[in-house]
Amino acid sequence: MRWAVAHFGQKVAGSPLNCLVLCLLRHFARRSPAKGERRGASRTSILGAAWVDDLGLCKIVKYHGKCDGLEGGCPVCEEFVEEGRKSQNYFIWLCRQLGIGLAEEKHQWLAQKLEYAGFLYDTVRGLLLILDPKLEKVVSCLREWASAMMVTSRELDSVRGRIIHYSLCIKHIRILATEITWLIGTEEEPAYDEKLQVTDEMRELARELEEVVQLYAPQGRDLWPAVPSSLYGGFLRGETGHGVAVATWDSGPHGWAALWKWWECKSGNKVLEERLLIGTWPAGSDVSEQVHREGLGGCLMLEAMAHDKDLTGWLVILRNDAESALTAFRKGSSRSRISPTV
Ligand SMILES: [Zn+2]
Repeated sequence: MRWAVAHFGQKVAGSPLNCLVLCLLRHFARRSPAKGERRGASRTSILGAAWVDDLGLCKIVKYHGKCDGLEGGCPVCEEFVEEGRKSQNYFIWLCRQLGIGLAEEKHQWLAQKLEYAGFLYDTVRGLLLILDPKLEKVVSCLREWASAMMVTSRELDSVRGRIIHYSLCIKHIRILATEITWLIGTEEEPAYDEKLQVTDEMRELARELEEVVQLYAPQGRDLWPAVPSSLYGGFLRGETGHGVAVATWDSGPHGWAALWKWWECKSGNKVLEERLLIGTWPAGSDVSEQVHREGLGGCLMLEAMAHDKDLTGWLVILRNDAESALTAFRKGSSRSRISPTV
Protein backbone atom coordinates (compact mmCIF):
# COMPACT_ATOMS: atom_id res chain seq x y z
CA MET A 1 0.00 0.00 0.00
CA ARG A 2 1.42 3.43 -0.88
CA TRP A 3 -0.06 6.70 0.34
CA ALA A 4 0.41 10.12 -1.18
CA VAL A 5 1.85 11.67 1.96
CA ALA A 6 5.17 13.01 3.17
CA HIS A 7 8.00 10.55 3.04
CA PHE A 8 8.51 8.99 6.44
CA GLY A 9 12.23 8.13 6.58
CA GLN A 10 13.26 6.46 9.82
CA LYS A 11 10.86 8.24 12.12
CA VAL A 12 7.69 6.40 11.30
CA ALA A 13 5.82 6.65 14.57
CA GLY A 14 3.37 9.52 14.37
CA SER A 15 3.93 10.12 10.65
CA PRO A 16 0.84 10.97 8.53
CA LEU A 17 1.18 7.58 6.90
CA ASN A 18 1.01 5.86 10.24
CA CYS A 19 -2.03 7.92 11.30
CA LEU A 20 -3.92 6.80 8.20
CA VAL A 21 -2.96 3.16 8.62
CA LEU A 22 -4.10 3.29 12.25
CA CYS A 23 -7.49 4.69 11.14
CA LEU A 24 -7.90 1.71 8.81
CA LEU A 25 -6.99 -0.72 11.59
CA ARG A 26 -9.46 0.91 13.93
CA HIS A 27 -12.22 0.67 11.35
CA PHE A 28 -11.50 -3.02 10.70
CA ALA A 29 -11.59 -3.83 14.39
CA ARG A 30 -14.83 -1.99 15.15
CA ARG A 31 -16.93 -2.37 12.02
CA SER A 32 -20.61 -3.45 11.94
CA PRO A 33 -21.29 -5.68 14.93
CA ALA A 34 -24.45 -7.81 14.68
CA LYS A 35 -27.26 -7.46 17.22
CA GLY A 36 -26.06 -8.57 20.64
CA GLU A 37 -22.40 -8.42 19.66
CA ARG A 38 -19.92 -5.95 21.08
CA ARG A 39 -18.24 -3.47 18.81
CA GLY A 40 -14.61 -4.51 18.45
CA ALA A 41 -15.33 -8.11 19.45
CA SER A 42 -17.83 -9.21 16.83
CA ARG A 43 -17.67 -11.85 14.12
CA THR A 44 -16.88 -9.12 11.62
CA SER A 45 -14.04 -7.61 13.65
CA ILE A 46 -10.68 -7.91 11.94
CA LEU A 47 -7.80 -7.33 14.31
CA GLY A 48 -4.51 -6.18 12.94
CA ALA A 49 -1.10 -4.64 13.39
CA ALA A 50 0.90 -2.38 11.13
CA TRP A 51 4.54 -1.65 10.45
CA VAL A 52 4.55 1.63 8.50
CA ASP A 53 2.51 0.56 5.47
CA ASP A 54 2.63 -3.21 5.94
CA LEU A 55 -0.49 -4.64 7.49
CA GLY A 56 -1.01 -7.94 9.25
CA LEU A 57 -4.66 -8.85 9.82
CA CYS A 58 -5.93 -11.70 11.90
CA LYS A 59 -9.06 -13.59 12.86
CA ILE A 60 -9.18 -15.23 16.25
CA VAL A 61 -10.61 -18.74 16.14
CA LYS A 62 -12.70 -20.25 18.94
CA TYR A 63 -10.55 -21.25 21.90
CA HIS A 64 -9.62 -24.91 21.68
CA GLY A 65 -6.75 -27.11 22.79
CA LYS A 66 -3.57 -27.80 20.87
CA CYS A 67 -4.31 -28.91 17.33
CA ASP A 68 -2.57 -29.44 14.00
CA GLY A 69 -4.30 -26.46 12.43
CA LEU A 70 -5.70 -26.30 8.92
CA GLU A 71 -2.81 -28.39 7.58
CA GLY A 72 -3.75 -31.18 9.95
CA GLY A 73 -7.46 -30.81 9.12
CA CYS A 74 -8.63 -29.42 12.48
CA PRO A 75 -12.42 -28.92 12.20
CA VAL A 76 -12.51 -26.02 14.71
CA CYS A 77 -9.90 -24.03 12.77
CA GLU A 78 -11.70 -24.99 9.54
CA GLU A 79 -14.91 -23.35 10.83
CA PHE A 80 -13.28 -19.94 10.61
CA VAL A 81 -11.92 -20.19 7.10
CA GLU A 82 -15.04 -18.84 5.43
CA GLU A 83 -15.25 -15.93 7.87
CA GLY A 84 -11.58 -15.20 7.20
CA ARG A 85 -12.07 -15.23 3.43
CA LYS A 86 -14.97 -12.79 3.77
CA SER A 87 -12.81 -10.45 5.85
CA GLN A 88 -9.98 -10.70 3.35
CA ASN A 89 -12.32 -9.86 0.46
CA TYR A 90 -13.77 -6.95 2.41
CA PHE A 91 -10.28 -5.57 3.03
CA ILE A 92 -9.42 -5.71 -0.68
CA TRP A 93 -12.80 -4.23 -1.66
CA LEU A 94 -12.46 -1.35 0.80
CA CYS A 95 -8.93 -0.51 -0.31
CA ARG A 96 -10.17 -0.34 -3.93
CA GLN A 97 -13.01 1.96 -2.87
CA LEU A 98 -10.55 4.24 -1.11
CA GLY A 99 -8.13 4.25 -4.01
CA ILE A 100 -5.42 2.51 -2.01
CA GLY A 101 -3.18 0.56 -4.35
CA LEU A 102 -2.22 -2.85 -2.96
CA ALA A 103 0.90 -4.72 -4.01
CA GLU A 104 -1.08 -7.86 -4.81
CA GLU A 105 1.99 -9.93 -5.67
CA LYS A 106 3.26 -9.47 -2.11
CA HIS A 107 0.00 -10.60 -0.51
CA GLN A 108 -0.04 -13.58 1.75
CA TRP A 109 -3.49 -15.04 1.77
CA LEU A 110 -5.44 -16.52 4.64
CA ALA A 111 -3.09 -18.93 6.43
CA GLN A 112 -1.89 -19.97 9.85
CA LYS A 113 1.75 -19.41 8.99
CA LEU A 114 3.12 -16.24 7.48
CA GLU A 115 6.48 -14.77 6.62
CA TYR A 116 7.64 -11.27 7.42
CA ALA A 117 10.98 -9.53 7.96
CA GLY A 118 12.90 -12.81 7.81
CA PHE A 119 10.66 -14.53 10.36
CA LEU A 120 8.19 -17.36 10.04
CA TYR A 121 5.17 -16.76 12.27
CA ASP A 122 3.77 -20.17 13.09
CA THR A 123 0.51 -19.43 14.90
CA VAL A 124 -0.40 -23.12 15.31
CA ARG A 125 2.74 -24.05 17.22
CA GLY A 126 2.95 -20.54 18.71
CA LEU A 127 6.52 -20.10 17.48
CA LEU A 128 8.59 -17.43 15.83
CA LEU A 129 11.30 -19.00 13.63
CA ILE A 130 14.00 -17.75 11.30
CA LEU A 131 13.43 -18.43 7.58
CA ASP A 132 15.97 -20.80 6.02
CA PRO A 133 17.56 -18.34 3.55
CA LYS A 134 18.03 -15.84 6.41
CA LEU A 135 19.62 -18.49 8.62
CA GLU A 136 22.09 -19.28 5.82
CA LYS A 137 22.87 -15.60 5.50
CA VAL A 138 23.51 -15.20 9.26
CA VAL A 139 25.76 -18.27 9.35
CA SER A 140 27.71 -17.20 6.27
CA CYS A 141 28.34 -13.69 7.62
CA LEU A 142 29.58 -15.15 10.92
CA ARG A 143 31.92 -17.53 9.05
CA GLU A 144 33.19 -14.69 6.91
CA TRP A 145 33.93 -12.70 10.05
CA ALA A 146 35.72 -15.64 11.71
CA SER A 147 37.94 -16.25 8.68
CA ALA A 148 38.73 -12.62 7.78
CA MET A 149 42.07 -11.03 8.65
CA MET A 150 40.68 -7.51 8.88
CA VAL A 151 37.25 -6.09 9.63
CA THR A 152 35.76 -2.59 10.03
CA SER A 153 33.51 -1.44 12.87
CA ARG A 154 30.82 -0.83 10.24
CA GLU A 155 30.95 -4.50 9.20
CA LEU A 156 30.81 -5.65 12.81
CA ASP A 157 27.89 -3.31 13.39
CA SER A 158 25.97 -4.94 10.56
CA VAL A 159 26.59 -8.39 12.10
CA ARG A 160 25.42 -7.04 15.45
CA GLY A 161 22.25 -5.57 13.87
CA ARG A 162 21.44 -8.91 12.30
CA ILE A 163 22.01 -10.81 15.56
CA ILE A 164 19.80 -8.39 17.54
CA HIS A 165 17.05 -8.72 14.92
CA TYR A 166 17.09 -12.51 14.90
CA SER A 167 17.44 -12.75 18.67
CA LEU A 168 13.64 -12.40 18.60
CA CYS A 169 13.43 -15.89 17.14
CA ILE A 170 16.67 -17.53 18.33
CA LYS A 171 17.28 -17.99 22.05
CA HIS A 172 20.50 -16.99 23.84
CA ILE A 173 22.10 -14.85 21.10
CA ARG A 174 21.00 -11.43 22.34
CA ILE A 175 23.57 -11.41 25.11
CA LEU A 176 26.34 -12.20 22.60
CA ALA A 177 25.33 -9.22 20.44
CA THR A 178 26.28 -7.03 23.42
CA GLU A 179 29.76 -8.53 23.29
CA ILE A 180 30.09 -7.30 19.71
CA THR A 181 29.31 -3.81 21.04
CA TRP A 182 32.46 -4.02 23.13
CA LEU A 183 34.50 -4.77 20.03
CA ILE A 184 33.02 -1.89 18.04
CA GLY A 185 33.23 0.91 20.59
CA THR A 186 31.08 3.99 20.07
CA GLU A 187 29.64 4.78 16.65
CA GLU A 188 30.77 8.42 16.73
CA GLU A 189 34.37 7.36 16.41
CA PRO A 190 35.94 8.53 13.16
CA ALA A 191 37.53 5.10 12.89
CA TYR A 192 34.21 3.51 11.94
CA ASP A 193 35.56 2.50 8.51
CA GLU A 194 39.13 1.82 9.55
CA LYS A 195 40.28 -1.76 9.16
CA LEU A 196 40.83 -3.62 12.42
CA GLN A 197 42.83 -6.77 12.95
CA VAL A 198 40.51 -9.73 13.63
CA THR A 199 41.75 -10.96 17.00
CA ASP A 200 41.47 -14.46 18.47
CA GLU A 201 38.89 -13.07 20.88
CA MET A 202 36.74 -11.93 17.93
CA ARG A 203 37.10 -15.26 16.15
CA GLU A 204 36.09 -17.07 19.32
CA LEU A 205 32.98 -14.88 19.63
CA ALA A 206 32.03 -15.45 15.96
CA ARG A 207 32.42 -19.21 16.42
CA GLU A 208 30.40 -19.21 19.63
CA LEU A 209 27.64 -17.22 17.92
CA GLU A 210 27.51 -19.68 15.03
CA GLU A 211 27.28 -22.62 17.44
CA VAL A 212 24.44 -21.02 19.42
CA VAL A 213 22.60 -19.98 16.23
CA GLN A 214 22.82 -23.50 14.74
CA LEU A 215 21.74 -25.11 18.02
CA TYR A 216 18.77 -22.90 18.84
CA ALA A 217 17.45 -21.70 15.46
CA PRO A 218 15.32 -24.85 14.87
CA GLN A 219 13.62 -24.43 18.28
CA GLY A 220 12.44 -20.87 17.60
CA ARG A 221 11.03 -18.67 20.35
CA ASP A 222 7.57 -18.25 21.80
CA LEU A 223 5.38 -16.04 19.65
CA TRP A 224 3.38 -15.13 22.74
CA PRO A 225 5.86 -15.32 25.65
CA ALA A 226 4.60 -15.32 29.21
CA VAL A 227 4.24 -11.88 30.79
CA PRO A 228 6.56 -12.06 33.83
CA SER A 229 4.13 -10.44 36.28
CA SER A 230 1.24 -12.70 35.17
CA LEU A 231 3.47 -15.76 35.28
CA TYR A 232 4.57 -14.82 38.79
CA GLY A 233 0.94 -14.36 39.86
CA GLY A 234 0.14 -17.78 38.40
CA PHE A 235 3.12 -19.27 40.24
CA LEU A 236 1.97 -17.85 43.59
CA ARG A 237 -1.50 -19.29 43.01
CA GLY A 238 0.04 -22.68 42.20
CA GLU A 239 -1.22 -22.63 38.62
CA THR A 240 2.15 -23.06 36.90
CA GLY A 241 3.21 -26.58 36.18
CA HIS A 242 6.55 -28.31 36.53
CA GLY A 243 9.58 -26.39 35.29
CA VAL A 244 8.88 -22.91 36.64
CA ALA A 245 10.88 -21.50 39.56
CA VAL A 246 11.16 -18.13 41.27
CA ALA A 247 14.52 -16.92 42.53
CA THR A 248 14.84 -13.80 44.68
CA TRP A 249 18.26 -12.59 45.72
CA ASP A 250 20.04 -9.69 47.32
CA SER A 251 23.69 -8.83 47.67
CA GLY A 252 25.77 -6.89 50.19
CA PRO A 253 29.42 -5.95 50.63
CA HIS A 254 30.20 -9.30 52.25
CA GLY A 255 28.13 -11.73 50.23
CA TRP A 256 24.77 -12.69 48.80
CA ALA A 257 21.63 -14.55 49.84
CA ALA A 258 18.85 -16.05 47.76
CA LEU A 259 15.57 -17.81 48.26
CA TRP A 260 14.31 -19.95 45.43
CA LYS A 261 10.98 -21.72 45.18
CA TRP A 262 9.32 -24.26 42.94
CA TRP A 263 6.29 -26.54 43.01
CA GLU A 264 6.84 -30.26 43.48
CA CYS A 265 4.29 -33.04 43.13
CA LYS A 266 4.40 -35.28 46.21
CA SER A 267 2.00 -38.26 46.43
CA GLY A 268 -0.58 -36.49 44.28
CA ASN A 269 -0.34 -33.12 46.07
CA LYS A 270 1.39 -29.99 44.89
CA VAL A 271 3.88 -28.81 47.48
CA LEU A 272 5.77 -25.52 47.38
CA GLU A 273 9.43 -26.31 47.93
CA GLU A 274 11.94 -23.66 48.90
CA ARG A 275 15.63 -23.40 49.49
CA LEU A 276 17.70 -20.67 51.11
CA LEU A 277 21.15 -20.12 49.66
CA ILE A 278 23.86 -17.97 51.22
CA GLY A 279 27.37 -17.29 49.97
CA THR A 280 30.37 -15.02 50.36
CA TRP A 281 32.24 -13.38 47.49
CA PRO A 282 35.02 -15.31 45.80
CA ALA A 283 38.47 -13.79 46.49
CA GLY A 284 39.31 -10.89 44.19
CA SER A 285 35.71 -10.12 43.13
CA ASP A 286 34.95 -6.50 42.28
CA VAL A 287 31.83 -5.82 44.33
CA SER A 288 32.25 -2.10 44.99
CA GLU A 289 29.29 -1.14 42.74
CA GLN A 290 25.75 -2.31 43.51
CA VAL A 291 25.04 -3.46 39.95
CA HIS A 292 28.18 -5.63 39.92
CA ARG A 293 27.31 -7.11 43.30
CA GLU A 294 23.80 -8.00 42.19
CA GLY A 295 25.07 -9.32 38.84
CA LEU A 296 27.68 -11.54 40.45
CA GLY A 297 25.23 -12.57 43.20
CA GLY A 298 22.71 -13.64 40.54
CA CYS A 299 25.32 -15.74 38.71
CA LEU A 300 26.46 -17.47 41.91
CA MET A 301 22.84 -18.08 42.87
CA LEU A 302 22.06 -19.72 39.50
CA GLU A 303 25.19 -21.85 39.82
CA ALA A 304 24.14 -23.00 43.30
CA MET A 305 20.58 -23.70 42.10
CA ALA A 306 21.92 -25.85 39.26
CA HIS A 307 23.89 -27.88 41.86
CA ASP A 308 20.62 -28.44 43.72
CA LYS A 309 18.56 -29.53 40.76
CA ASP A 310 18.82 -30.18 37.03
CA LEU A 311 17.25 -27.00 35.64
CA THR A 312 17.54 -27.86 31.94
CA GLY A 313 14.54 -26.39 30.14
CA TRP A 314 13.25 -24.60 33.28
CA LEU A 315 11.88 -21.11 33.29
CA VAL A 316 13.27 -19.13 36.22
CA ILE A 317 11.70 -15.82 37.23
CA LEU A 318 14.50 -13.60 38.56
CA ARG A 319 13.62 -11.06 41.26
CA ASN A 320 16.07 -8.41 42.37
CA ASP A 321 16.00 -4.72 43.27
CA ALA A 322 18.69 -3.61 40.78
CA GLU A 323 16.99 -3.15 37.45
CA SER A 324 20.24 -2.83 35.56
CA ALA A 325 21.42 -6.20 36.91
CA LEU A 326 18.19 -7.82 35.68
CA THR A 327 18.61 -6.13 32.28
CA ALA A 328 22.17 -7.44 32.08
CA PHE A 329 20.86 -10.98 32.54
CA ARG A 330 18.40 -10.44 29.69
CA LYS A 331 20.58 -8.73 27.11
CA GLY A 332 24.06 -8.19 28.51
CA SER A 333 25.39 -4.85 29.64
CA SER A 334 26.78 -2.43 27.10
CA ARG A 335 27.66 0.22 29.69
CA SER A 336 29.80 -1.65 32.11
CA ARG A 337 32.54 -3.97 31.00
CA ILE A 338 32.37 -6.01 34.20
CA SER A 339 28.85 -7.35 33.75
CA PRO A 340 29.52 -9.37 30.56
CA THR A 341 32.64 -10.89 32.07
CA VAL A 342 30.61 -11.86 35.14
ZN1 LIG B 1 -7.55 -26.07 15.51
